[in-house]
Order: sequence, then structure tokens, then C-alpha cells
Amino acid sequence: MKTDYFKQKLEEDKRVLEHEMGTVGRPNSAVPDDWEVAPSEIGMEADLADQADVVMNREGNAAILADLEARYDAVLNALRRIEKGAYGICEVCGEAIEEKRLEADPAATTCIKDL
Ligand SMILES: [Zn+2]
Repeated sequence: MKTDYFKQKLEEDKRVLEHEMGTVGRPNSAVPDDWEVAPSEIGMEADLADQADVVMNREGNAAILADLEARYDAVLNALRRIEKGAYGICEVCGEAIEEKRLEADPAATTCIKDL
């Protein structure tokens, strides 16, 4: 198992995801490793149409952030499994996960037949 190689890929993914989350949200100061949508300037807009735009934008950002956060959690979990020496083991059958599957998704938790 090329654990160091996959660890590098995971750490690269983590940096990219943190950067992407930073464009739509900010770290939640109350919960470690949790992110929240950046506050918008609702109420400051001149008219209702602009306020509607802000709400739409905020909802869009929340959806984007939820997706990024799910991927981020998976990456953090994979890094934790590396630390515990349990990386690359299928959660369903306990067999080693195929390297080509980890190549496609280093945060994968199941082998190809247990997808
Ligand atoms: Zn399996």
C-alpha cells in the first residue's frame, strides 16, 4: 500500500477544499473542523429584488458548502485512518481497497465490489 503517496494526495485535496470552502464560507469558530456560510449583507440592499438576489446567493452557497464539507470530512477521516494504520481497508468486507479505486478517490472507504 502506497500510504505516503495517498496521504500526500489527501493533504493536497484538503488544502484545495479548504481554499474552496473559504470562497463561500468561513470556519465555524464554535465547532472545530466545521464550516458555515459567510454572513451576507442582507437588509443593506436598496430594494427587494436585490434582497432576493442575496437570499438566492446565500442558499446556493450553503448547498455548495455542504457538498465541499462532505468531501472535506471524508478526506479528514481518511487521514485519521492513515494515522491509525487502518487506511485502505474496506469498511464492509475488511479486505484491502484496490489501489486504482484509491487513485480515483483517495478518501474511499469501501472496495469496488462493496460500492
Ligand atoms: Zn469490500
